[in-house]
Amino acid sequence: MVEPREIILNALKEERRKLLEHEALELIKAYGAPIADAGLAKTPEEAGDLAEKMGFPVVLKIVSPDISHKSDVGGVIVGVNSKEEAIEASKKIIENVSKNVPSARITGILVQKMAKKGLEIIIGGLRDNIFGPVVMFGLGGIFVEVLKDVSFRVAPISYEDAYEMMKEIKSAKLLEGYRGQPPVDKKAIADIIIAVAKLLEENPEVDSVDLNPVIAYPDGAVVVDARVILKQ
Ligand code: ADP
Ligand code: MG
Repeated sequence: MVEPREIILNALKEERRKLLEHEALELIKAYGAPIADAGLAKTPEEAGDLAEKMGFPVVLKIVSPDISHKSDVGGVIVGVNSKEEAIEASKKIIENVSKNVPSARITGILVQKMAKKGLEIIIGGLRDNIFGPVVMFGLGGIFVEVLKDVSFRVAPISYEDAYEMMKEIKSAKLLEGYRGQPPVDKKAIADIIIAVAKLLEENPEVDSVDLNPVIAYPDGAVVVDARVILKQ
């Protein structure tokens, strides 16, 4: 188990404001959030080997201190089903990123277990100048980006607060299941909201946390993407 302080202090020592993808996932895991199984590969061949060991399907992602929105620059390929595909997809990602952001340093490729379909939600946290640590909850995709349908609470928060945050959004009904789907696991979501609040409270160097998406199921939830930004 990686010590949360170690991850943060190491990034600061290297003068990195953005934790690398695997570091951010490890950090949130250290606070008890379930994350998708993942490993860092240094070369396309290594990504192929890692993917094979992990079992298919996998998702491949660019790992770079200079890139925040990976899919915008062709840095994410989902649904990779064989070792050969993993090698090719890794090369493609490196090619895309080199073309779209020529100045970006490339640390490697994250090989991550592909999560099964579920409801994509977003859990975030930031440090407000006046209120201090604040957590945010919303549904993924257009719900946050277009409709800005989110709820906020000032940390520390209780389970009751976390459940209220889920009830408050306009699209709350989607959490109750739709088109015959069973409701999502609200306890699992509350656990992650509380983990984000605690992470911000205990680590003053952390400026913001963005878990986007967390995939929620009738039984459990899993974080597949985490962005953690440290203070200047
Ligand atoms: P970014 O937000 O930096 O573009 P993400 O890691 O969020 O990159 O990946 C982009 C999208 O790919 C996610 O919003 C999600 O829909 C999908 N995705 C990413 N990782 C997984 C995974 N492990 N399992 C299933 N879907 C995933
Ligand atoms: Mg994302």
